[in-house]
Amino acid sequence: MRSVNPSRLTGPPMRLRLGATTLPMVGHVRMYVCGITPYDVTHLGHAATYIWADAAERVLRWHGHAVTVARNVTDVDDVLFAEARRRGESHTMLATLQRAAFEGTMATLQVRPPDFAPSAAQHIGHVIQLAAALLDQDAAYERNGAVYARTAHAAGQFGVGRGDALTLAAEYHDDPDDPDKDDPLDVIVWKACRPDDEVSWPSPWGDGRPGWHAECAAMVLALFGPSVDIHCGGGDLAFPHHASEAALAEAATGVTPFARSWMRAGVVTIDGVKMSKSRGDLVLVEDLLREHSPGAVRLLCLNRPWAADWAYEPSALDEAEATLEQLYAAAARPGMAPGAAAVPGALLDDLDVPRAVAMALEDGGQAARTLIELLALS
Ligand code: ZN
Repeated sequence: MRSVNPSRLTGPPMRLRLGATTLPMVGHVRMYVCGITPYDVTHLGHAATYIWADAAERVLRWHGHAVTVARNVTDVDDVLFAEARRRGESHTMLATLQRAAFEGTMATLQVRPPDFAPSAAQHIGHVIQLAAALLDQDAAYERNGAVYARTAHAAGQFGVGRGDALTLAAEYHDDPDDPDKDDPLDVIVWKACRPDDEVSWPSPWGDGRPGWHAECAAMVLALFGPSVDIHCGGGDLAFPHHASEAALAEAATGVTPFARSWMRAGVVTIDGVKMSKSRGDLVLVEDLLREHSPGAVRLLCLNRPWAADWAYEPSALDEAEATLEQLYAAAARPGMAPGAAAVPGALLDDLDVPRAVAMALEDGGQAARTLIELLALS
């Protein structure tokens, strides 16, 4: 657990609003962040998600809370295996190198390293334990060496209609047409090994490997127990990933809600759609950092509503740089402006960075210095 400033705990009770959810925060805070599949370089969409999770952690810590953060690495995944084959490398080597590059970029962007960085390969036993628990609760069934969970209700709980859910399940490779499924929206917890699989592990149902949603659910349960306070991830992870993860964990443990709050950072778009490797329009963080400061990249991501999708424009980075210069100039003004104490408070209300920036620019002095320090904009 990271150190805290206990003097900040003696103030009024703290509530953090995240969208429609207001969380009374008492004591230790557990954050789980869906991490990367380490098969390619870090793009701005990834960075925005992890910068927002980092900002939430920093706000909580500023207010005196101990925060434990786990950010996973998906190191057993078909896209990783496919990219390794394309490059003629082993998938473990590719994952190791890409993970190191990602962590280097995160460090440059002043994203705090997580307390735990679990990976699927390290938690096979916990996935098997989850599958066995689901079978025991009759929340799952075994077919041909695979274990499927009955999760068709999860879409509705996340406000996704069945038609849209089927489309999304296909898009995210949940294989709704798998003939072994009782319901196309059931998800796979344990995949049976195929002849061309790169990796597999023994299980009570035969050799296989974890399903994606089960992997995150199992790691949350292993690290935090049956619930977390804030579950973060990219804006495109609501369904099927987060909905299925919650359905699996809740069915296995009986504890609801699995996540007290969800914090999915808005998707970064180019020409109106999510940037993607397949279209070749990725904005790489390493390219941005060649001409701009890490603080400007952080402010570009943070100076907006956290949940809203946004379009990347190169001019916006110049504007972020200019705003940062104004903040530094404001911070150089003398004085303990009354707004200094109000800036961290503004961030508790839905992480309202634009309002906090406006307050810091107007009041200057300590208000601006506080904001720069709190959001790591120096
Ligand atoms: Zn996840």
